[in-house]
Amino acid sequence: MTAAREPRTLLGVDVGGTKIAAGLVSADGALLTSVVRPTPAAQGRDAVLDAIAAAVRELPGWEGAEGLGIGTGGVIDRDLGVVRSANALLPGWAGTRLSEELSARLGLPVAADNDANVFALAEQTYGAGAGCASALYVSVGTGIGGGLVTGGRLLRGAHWTAGEFGHIAVPEAAGRPCNCGGAGHLEAVASGPAITARFRELAGDEDVYDLRKVAALAESDTPTGTEAARAALAEGAAALGRALAGLVNTVDPQRVVIGGGVASIGTPFWQPLTEAFAAELLPGPAGVRPVPAALGPRAAVIGAAALLLETGPRQTTTTT
Ligand SMILES: [Zn+2]
Repeated sequence: MTAAREPRTLLGVDVGGTKIAAGLVSADGALLTSVVRPTPAAQGRDAVLDAIAAAVRELPGWEGAEGLGIGTGGVIDRDLGVVRSANALLPGWAGTRLSEELSARLGLPVAADNDANVFALAEQTYGAGAGCASALYVSVGTGIGGGLVTGGRLLRGAHWTAGEFGHIAVPEAAGRPCNCGGAGHLEAVASGPAITARFRELAGDEDVYDLRKVAALAESDTPTGTEAARAALAEGAAALGRALAGLVNTVDPQRVVIGGGVASIGTPFWQPLTEAFAAELLPGPAGVRPVPAALGPRAAVIGAAALLLETGPRQTTTTT
């Protein structure tokens, strides 16, 4: 009698400044089990690496997985699994040899990439772009990032920064400081915090720091704040739509997929986005319209696991 073969499973981990999400994922993209634990960011790199390994060991059946994929903020060398540069949310993270350190702790092959690339890979492999040879994926949340797929492959770029759509200069953001240290970039007008800040300016209300409050006001009939909320959302959404249309005119993808917390706002975000987007398109891609991402917050863990399914070259000539 032959024992039944265990189905293929993969591990995916999403590491942010405040939480670590780890999950066991089937090869066809189902999230089988998951845990979320706090990130001990203030305790430094080794504590974070230990916490990632501990979260993985909590998952029943983790030892049988083929490998571990990890997505995190910053610029990640996909070939070496090294954090090249990081943001302020994870102090000391830059230089971390993620693949080597986690492979030593868990005894599994490890692949690592930027969290926006991981989002794109999830939607490309299992979500709203499945089956598309070319697609543009954009995640709009506290920042704006994404990925571009051409020829069925995610473009990594020569310096591992391809898909940083949030740092396109747009006129609507002129003079506004950006999280990257520059100014005038899309992220400074269309990210969640930027839209909320614009609402505070327009409404003269210094107390609103939650985008959900702005979204609720935009869909309400109360006189106070409704117009300002709609205007702040429309300004950010229209800037995003025009910038994305410019990218579509440049690379002509089959599909444009938008996810992230800001994209979960309904009509007050999607309508101005779609109108501004459509108005800028060349005749060729004139029928393309942005569609919502399909996987929601699960994309972070599922996409990290999908890193292990990538084969072939990564379209990257690494430079130092
Ligand atoms: Zn920027």
